[in-house]
Amino acid sequence: MSGNITFTIIKPFAVSDGHIGPILNKIHTAGFKISAMRMLWLTQGEAERFYEVHKERPFYSDLVEFMTSGPIVVAVLKKENAVADYRKLIGATDPEKAEEGTIRKEFARSLRENAVHGSDSDENAAFEGSFFFSGLQRF
Ligand code: GDP
Repeated sequence: MSGNITFTIIKPFAVSDGHIGPILNKIHTAGFKISAMRMLWLTQGEAERFYEVHKERPFYSDLVEFMTSGPIVVAVLKKENAVADYRKLIGATDPEKAEEGTIRKEFARSLRENAVHGSDSDENAAFEGSFFFSGLQRF
């Protein structure tokens, strides 16, 4: 059975471009509830640990550099079928391939600077949410 939790990051540039409010509005309109949320600036070590699953991929160091380039907003989202529904709402990794109306289509700058992260499985959603939030910080 699919879970009811996913995890998102509003990435640098989406934050500095002023898109926090519009992105949260899309999340709200799509029926997600915010369970936990905060703004922070990742250190290199934190970004490396968070993206460890991508360690062998050619863009790993580029991704870490980008994700430490400015403040981000991290959040745990609740909704039935959260992982799949949120992936649909954010659109394809490459914004040029993302459907109209998706978050990445509207707010991404490029494949790397693609505005938001969304968990790709229930297992990763649990890991990613726990990476940033304790049980006491979730509602
Ligand atoms: P996602 O699950 O849709 O975010 O996509 P992936 O797990 O494949 O990639 C993780 C993140 O790495 C993406 O959201 C992009 O920010 C970045 N990324 C993906 N592919 C590339 C690439 O070819 N080059 C660069 N520089 N970054 C990439």
